[in-house]
Amino acid sequence: MVDSYMAAGLNYFDSAYVYHGGKSEVAMKEAIVDRYPRESFYLASKLPAWEMKSANDRDRIFNEQLYRAGVDYFDFYLLHSIEEGHIDTYEKYDCFAWGLQKKAEGKIKHFGFSYHGGADLLVQILDKHPEVEFVQIQLNYLDWENPVVRSGDLYKILESRGIPVIVMEPVKGGTLASLPEKLEARYKAARPDDSIASWALRFAASLPGVMTVLSGMSSDEQMADNLKTFAHFEPLSSEEQELVKSVTRAYLDVPLIGCTACRYCCDGCPMQINIPEIFRSANTIKLYPNDTWRPKSYYKGLVDTGRSGRAADCIQCGQCESVCPQHLPIITLLQEASAQLDA
Ligand code: SF4
Ligand code: SF4
Repeated sequence: MVDSYMAAGLNYFDSAYVYHGGKSEVAMKEAIVDRYPRESFYLASKLPAWEMKSANDRDRIFNEQLYRAGVDYFDFYLLHSIEEGHIDTYEKYDCFAWGLQKKAEGKIKHFGFSYHGGADLLVQILDKHPEVEFVQIQLNYLDWENPVVRSGDLYKILESRGIPVIVMEPVKGGTLASLPEKLEARYKAARPDDSIASWALRFAASLPGVMTVLSGMSSDEQMADNLKTFAHFEPLSSEEQELVKSVTRAYLDVPLIGCTACRYCCDGCPMQINIPEIFRSANTIKLYPNDTWRPKSYYKGLVDTGRSGRAADCIQCGQCESVCPQHLPIITLLQEASAQLDA
């Protein structure tokens, strides 16, 4: 797979300290570093906040990564998975300044971060750290307006600042490689010879400011199909953009909790339950039933950081239902959400 990829003129490889139980960088050494001239490819890896217990761990992990990959430097190096729960660790151990230091030493060529948090935090980080050269985000057409992933909002922030975007999950973990039959038929009618996954890759790669698209291939067939898409890349036409939007709307057409996030219910809740945010998580699970990890993690973050009581904490006092302008059966809806989120 590496050989096919390199032969097609592509050269970016993404890894991380924690991927594959620590073996991803070793695999890069065996498949790429030991077989190709160092200047013929780009290697990316990442520093994990959750593996650090002191500032000394930055160098300990980094040096181990260099050793595992058999290189003297990484072309792209990222603080891994910044979000509301990890940013404090990266700040506490001064990892942004450390990244710049590594860059000055020539051990990192480009410094950035991968991101899984909200739009407000992204703006705060970019304001505070203008030294960041690129940001990696989850971006695909199905998550463009996903209330937890917020691909569209994050992309627009980065694009407006001229910060190059690296796209992860363009095919949403394989979800966008096969769709319900009726929706696939619409893509096939427009481009009979193209795969369903190619629409997702073309959507991501057509966006201005996208530097590279990481597609996470795991078979020769996927590699061949992706190379076909990128070898003679065609951006989506405006008609094709409309088709993708229409397919997205049809895919996401499921009944949701009609909470408008007015927050009238919040102040009076004796259990400090952040009802609209819990409903946001529950709605995300309804929309993306094959991808519940993200909303569950979002909910856990709310509870762990004291921004919400658990859905299961509701004592059924009824205060919230008495003030909800949407007349939602909040107690029942919280029980349903709890079955998903507190499980
Ligand atoms: S019914 Fe439950 S969610 Fe509503 S105010 Fe009372 S404790 Fe809070
Ligand atoms: S009062 Fe109703 S609509 Fe407003 S945030 Fe609470 S649940 Fe949502």
